[in-house]
Amino acid sequence: MKAIQSLITVTLLVFITSLAHVIGAFATCADCVVDIVPMPGSGQAVNGRRSISVKIAPNLNSSPGTINPFVWNAVFGCTGCPVQGAVQQWNNTTDNGQANGAHIGYFLKQDQSTTSPDILIVKVPAGSLNNGGADAATGAANGPDGKPLPGKRVILLDERALRYEPARLAALIAHEIGHALGLGDNYKKRCTTIVNVVTSTNTPVVQPSDVAMVNQHLGNRGTCLSEQRHPLPNDGGSGEPSPSPTPVGCPDADNDSVCDAQDCND
Ligand SMILES: [Zn+2]
Repeated sequence: MKAIQSLITVTLLVFITSLAHVIGAFATCADCVVDIVPMPGSGQAVNGRRSISVKIAPNLNSSPGTINPFVWNAVFGCTGCPVQGAVQQWNNTTDNGQANGAHIGYFLKQDQSTTSPDILIVKVPAGSLNNGGADAATGAANGPDGKPLPGKRVILLDERALRYEPARLAALIAHEIGHALGLGDNYKKRCTTIVNVVTSTNTPVVQPSDVAMVNQHLGNRGTCLSEQRHPLPNDGGSGEPSPSPTPVGCPDADNDSVCDAQDCND
């Protein structure tokens, strides 16, 4: 009897383990946000993919004219680095994880010389994001008049993140790029997605399902069902999700917390 019981237990365990494996393999983790307008990009398309220029702001220089190499590698990667840069992850991952899969419909392109990057990465003082509860955030880039520039995004990086392990910093930046490309947060514990929480012990990389979701957003964002309403600008790259208030000075004609420039309803 004892033997049978333990056999049943073992069988059950094996069953549960394989079920968990199946769920883990097929669950859709990321979701996209209907309120975030797909990035228009700029310049020549690359292999049919919208070109998105990515620039690291000079306030992330480690010496005059030289970007902090730690940040550079986390964003763009480097030859021989064990950790893939955020841009590499987004450019190279396919929706089925195989060479024959589809890439995201965007191509992220390093461009330090442009004066109007599609995505600008900027350092902000420690503790300045979400009352210190976030170490990174994504928002609309503002023009000289303080108004959001349509289609342009800014990623704010708390200066404390510069001390993170390379895998964590790369994950954090890839997470924020995911928001710029239309993904909402998903902090479900057993869900593997770049828009899960990024901590010292959880450093996700871009997943095939993340790529598929960016393409769904780009192709038909009306089908996006993000559990978290996540209008730009505002996001915590770590910690718990928090409400995203309309930033001061952001015109929002229909009061839905989405700036005019990003809202099809305004
Ligand atoms: Zn986030």
